[in-house]
Amino acid sequence: SQNYIKELGNRQCEQDLKEVLETWKQIPSHEFKERVLEKQTSLIKEWSESLTKALATEKIVSENTELIGDVLCRACGYHLGKLSRLRQYGQSYFINDHDFYNRIEEKILPEPREYVTTSVTGKALCGSKNCRAKLGCIQTLKDHSSISPIYPLKCQSIKIKLFERENGSETMILKKKWKQMLFKIPPLEISCSKNDEDIYYDAYDVMQTDV
Ligand SMILES: [Zn+2]
Repeated sequence: SQNYIKELGNRQCEQDLKEVLETWKQIPSHEFKERVLEKQTSLIKEWSESLTKALATEKIVSENTELIGDVLCRACGYHLGKLSRLRQYGQSYFINDHDFYNRIEEKILPEPREYVTTSVTGKALCGSKNCRAKLGCIQTLKDHSSISPIYPLKCQSIKIKLFERENGSETMILKKKWKQMLFKIPPLEISCSKNDEDIYYDAYDVMQTDV
């Protein structure tokens, strides 16, 4: 009957278990401990190897996603900076490079325009003498004087030459708004950041009214 088969199965299990226990008992305790330790060491080695491998893969991925290209003046093609230095801070997109002021001509306003967390001190013009197209403004972040001034760029004043790693080709990108860019522009990393929502005012709007 079914019950009889089940009973036989159970007995077989019991028998197997007994045999395993007997085998264990025959292993001297020091040898048993040694084997456990050996297994433990090999497991840790395995985990650490797979972790190292995972970290290496992650590094390769992040290096590959770094944007390669140039930010140029849309009007004349003058080189403004490396695409990899482009950062977003609130509504502002700018080249995070201390030497950026060398690439532009600063036109200082007689009076800075004061906002809650920022002040606009002037205009930034294309550094090419024959061009001088307006690229954006000069902005001081009141809470982040160490990184100020920044030069938020008007999306319509620039173009981006993007180098595509996969096929080695170059694409020229011209957009109306930064949000339309085909890639993600990394946010500016500021060490001790405050929760200052109103710094996210639209620099682009300011420039619109600025004729
Ligand atoms: Zn220009």
